[in-house]
Amino acid sequence: MDQESSPVTEPPDIGHIARVFSSPLNPNHQKSEPRRARARAERFPIGPETGAFRRRFFPDATLADWNDWRWQMRARIRSVAELERIFDLSDEEREAVSRHAGGLPVGITPYYASIMGLGEPGEPLRRTHIPVGQEYLSTPGEADDPLGEDHDTSVPGLVHRYPDRVLFLTTGTCSTYCRYCTRSRMVGQSGGEYQFSTRQWEQALGYIEAHPEIRDVLLSGGDPLTISDEKLDYLLGRLHAIRHVEFVRMGTKVPTVLPMRITRDLVRVLKKHRPLWMSIHATHPTELTLEVTEAYARLADAGIPLGSQTVLLKGINDSVETMKALNHGLLKRRVKPYYLYQCDPITGSAHFRTPVAKGLEIIEGLRGHTTGYAVPQYVIDAPGGGGKIPLLPDYLVGRDGDDLILRNFEGKQYRYHDPVEVVVSDVEGAPC
Ligand SMILES: *Cc1c(COP(=O)(O)O)cnc(C)c1O
Repeated sequence: MDQESSPVTEPPDIGHIARVFSSPLNPNHQKSEPRRARARAERFPIGPETGAFRRRFFPDATLADWNDWRWQMRARIRSVAELERIFDLSDEEREAVSRHAGGLPVGITPYYASIMGLGEPGEPLRRTHIPVGQEYLSTPGEADDPLGEDHDTSVPGLVHRYPDRVLFLTTGTCSTYCRYCTRSRMVGQSGGEYQFSTRQWEQALGYIEAHPEIRDVLLSGGDPLTISDEKLDYLLGRLHAIRHVEFVRMGTKVPTVLPMRITRDLVRVLKKHRPLWMSIHATHPTELTLEVTEAYARLADAGIPLGSQTVLLKGINDSVETMKALNHGLLKRRVKPYYLYQCDPITGSAHFRTPVAKGLEIIEGLRGHTTGYAVPQYVIDAPGGGGKIPLLPDYLVGRDGDDLILRNFEGKQYRYHDPVEVVVSDVEGAPC
């Protein structure tokens, strides 16, 4: 096999999967006992809304198909015609999708579509995945690579911005394409400027091996969980064999939008390579379905610490109530809200961006009002490659002599004795 030049994400081969995981509900199907046990082990819960959606729009898909992540990848909704079959498209959506060319294609897993508002263009999850006309507007401050990642790219696919850790872009493929994507310039295109291959992985691994200061490797993309179990096993194994790499983490949206990807086999692979942390992209509390609950539970049970990353999106999750419901739902599922991102100024994203004041208001509405674990760090990823910069409401009111004046979550003021330090070296005759 030509490992060197094979693309990282191979075209889904569902034939053999369909044979192995044939429907447990098909009474005519004769299976050997181990196979039946296997099918049972792979069985995934299916929510009522999603079940009805499957019967209505994918009547030929068996339950085994539906719960097969490669089937979901292959059956993704990608064209105007496919969207039109399922959604009541607004004129604006239809026009925007028809106009689309190049990177960041439309792509929605049938599972994720099943929890979207099929008849309401304003439904939050749908807005994050079906383009509208504003996507073609470029506004001041926007750029295709606002974070200057290409500038910080040491070898193709490896962004070395912080001294002790790297961002490893493993693939250009995602299971679904978010319209506000930070890497819209490089995802979802084959044969474009950005290529992802195992040859490129070897270069990145070589760089990490040659840089002992790198102690933390963040796998992202694209979405690393669209890569096959075998290739992930190989990559994680190579990274763990590097002595100075203390741990690896993965940034992924797959557990939320393609929960059936979290198979027992995948979990076995991930478990082999602990410590492994995972940052899961989550947007809205309606995402926290039966299926997603199962996917997160499998990961947490495997000893993979879970954090979440959420992009603050106008009219989608920009209220204290929505964010509280999301973060409470995540904590119940053993996911610690990690980052709340101000939406990056990617070209054509102005309709998603809130003022920074909105983010601060949300943090202020969470801190003290709910569990501290439910409060993520609100950050701006600085344009030009400055990295993530934390933002906090101002709880330090000022100083009164040796007292600091602080404000609590209810707005009450408190004093904290914090004497101004006497600098010893200023005292005459004192040793330095
Ligand atoms: C976000 C990011 C990291 C990881 O940042 P943490 O604050 O450690 O989670 C590393 N490298 C790049 C380029 C990043 O954008």
